Amino acid sequence: MNKEKKSLNGNPQTSRSSQNSHRVENGFQNARPDNNIYFQEFEEKNADRLKIVPLGGLGEVGRNMTVLEWKEQAIIIDMGLNFPEEKTPGVDYVIPNISYLQKQKKNIMGVIFTHGHYDHIGAVPYILDKIGNPPLYGSPLAMGITKKRQEEFPLQPKLKVNEIKEGERIDLGYFSVEFFHENHNIPDNYGLFIETPVGNIVHTSDFKFDPTPTNAPPTDFEKLKEIGSRGILLLMSDSTGAEAEGRSLSEKVICENLEKIFQKAKGRIFASTFASLINRIQDIITLSEKHGRKVVLEGYGMKTNIEIARNLGFIKTKKGTVIPAEKSFDYPDDKITILSTGAQGEGGAALMRILSKQHRHFQIKKGDAVVLSSSIIPGNERAVQNLKDDIMRQGADIFHSQMMDIHAKGHAQQEELKEMIRMMKPKFFMPVHGQYSMMASHAKIAEKEGIPKKNIALIDNGFITALGANELTISEKSVPTSAVMVDGSGIGDVGGVVLHDRMELADSGIFVVISVIDKKTRKLKNSPDIISRGFVYLRESQMLLTEVRKKVMQIISQSAKKRKEVKEIKPEIKNKVESFLYSKTGRRPIVLPVVIEI
Ligand SMILES: [Zn+2]
Repeated sequence: MNKEKKSLNGNPQTSRSSQNSHRVENGFQNARPDNNIYFQEFEEKNADRLKIVPLGGLGEVGRNMTVLEWKEQAIIIDMGLNFPEEKTPGVDYVIPNISYLQKQKKNIMGVIFTHGHYDHIGAVPYILDKIGNPPLYGSPLAMGITKKRQEEFPLQPKLKVNEIKEGERIDLGYFSVEFFHENHNIPDNYGLFIETPVGNIVHTSDFKFDPTPTNAPPTDFEKLKEIGSRGILLLMSDSTGAEAEGRSLSEKVICENLEKIFQKAKGRIFASTFASLINRIQDIITLSEKHGRKVVLEGYGMKTNIEIARNLGFIKTKKGTVIPAEKSFDYPDDKITILSTGAQGEGGAALMRILSKQHRHFQIKKGDAVVLSSSIIPGNERAVQNLKDDIMRQGADIFHSQMMDIHAKGHAQQEELKEMIRMMKPKFFMPVHGQYSMMASHAKIAEKEGIPKKNIALIDNGFITALGANELTISEKSVPTSAVMVDGSGIGDVGGVVLHDRMELADSGIFVVISVIDKKTRKLKNSPDIISRGFVYLRESQMLLTEVRKKVMQIISQSAKKRKEVKEIKPEIKNKVESFLYSKTGRRPIVLPVVIEI
């Protein structure tokens, strides 16, 4: 698991999902059974319309997955994961809820992928075999990363992977999908032009316009206009950057800012970014070569992603640029760049191990420059602050996004979003990919661009859009979309009860009382043992413990008189000890009574 977790250092746009608008199911329960009747009726009323069912990615950044359905056929766009919130301790990540698809497994014609970020491909190993292992279609890089990841799941069936070239078109039953180039912060990113029986749909993927990218062709505006001229019924467009005014920064500008650091640095450069920011990684390698530096790669995710991207020609390095860590000590400090994961302060990532002096080869020293080149995922602010403190304490110079524009979000901002709408001229509009507030501001932009409010589907996960050639209806209820949690190798087996226990443990600790009683006499053989973790420091709480022991002894001697069974004694100990501890400390640890008969 550890290995797998590291490869996840993954994703620039994943963030913690939030309990957002009123229409989102909170908690962990699925839709109520009476919803089935509602959806049956909805289905009948809208039999001649295309159904669009977002199972993830709306009202959250991450976990993207949308189903398009026409009669008995369906295609899926993306299958991503998300990182858990604080409210889910011990959970590695969350994936879309696929109970909606269970009954129509055989209808799934294929899964279309927009690009190789984990919030678009990451749930494949957990979901695909549960929906009948349909064929996958995506760019060589997206499919390369998907295949590589699948190797970590040897028990899963072999994937039916189809690598699609830019401009290619595939027919999947009633649907026909054309893949077109879009710029983002990973190469080989595709927007989708989908012909459906009701009309044409454009799905933008994550995108930004970039006239001067460093590792991909520039945005082809003529192509986009040509697609728009085919007549677009519905535009589904990336909302992640919709709250930011202006335009996103070109990769070229970021590269120029990065170069200033290379010009200034007198010692080693520790450049830390996401393993999936392939374009940024290329920039750092190119700049290192230009300034005569050798590059050391650190972090499992960094190494595997670079290997895949290099094999496909998306990352280019000169011979001899990349060297093993131990070789770096043969060169002067100003000739070395160490490219690593960990810009978010993720525990276990290479940069964290270096800072905590647990790294096999490197420690930070005076004169080093540390570059944190990625935007901070909401919720990671404190971890990143601690990271910066640690770097400064250890004497290195630090460069991060507040000081210079060395991170560009890979997402279109307001001016670009407007332009996309103008080029596509859609009849209907659906903001996708983003927290509710981002989608809502994207909806406002669309309205200002002349799309009537009634033609804009501003919805959350699970609400079905029934799209006709001239009208659009949104279901009033949601299909199940509650997060499915992945914990180690278990999927979905961590439910509300386990999580509740974990939260209690984290909040108030655990208090275990072990009593050994004689089988015949039912009397205690010796004084009860007490083990506590995260509740009170035992040595300083001897008085409290003595009193707990006394209580337990009383309970057991009274039960002995009444010849009570163990299963009756345990709840009594639990209740009495719980209320006693609460009365003395105001805390409610999990009390675990253990009664052993000998
Ligand atoms: Zn992306």
